[in-house]
Amino acid sequence: MTLGKPAPTPKRTRRSAQLFDVEGNPVHIRLTCLCCKEVKPLAAFGLRKMSNGTVRNQPWCRACRSTKNSATKAGAAKGAKAVLAEESEC
Ligand SMILES: [Zn+2]
Repeated sequence: MTLGKPAPTPKRTRRSAQLFDVEGNPVHIRLTCLCCKEVKPLAAFGLRKMSNGTVRNQPWCRACRSTKNSATKAGAAKGAKAVLAEESEC
């Protein structure tokens, strides 16, 4: 018997979206996107760090945010009024 490498530890992502209960079972948190109203896993939502250090999930899923961001860029070229119209859709 040799003293080999220690048991590999699970890979840690930069931010851990995976949560476990007291028994070690994975907990799947699902959130409803306020934009598309779809229920998606927590990993589908971005996180935002508040100025006081609190980390909160974004109310919109990544897909909706990317859609909105592209719409905002397009709207910025057209004018601020177009951006307001886009925001009111969600
Ligand atoms: Zn969405």
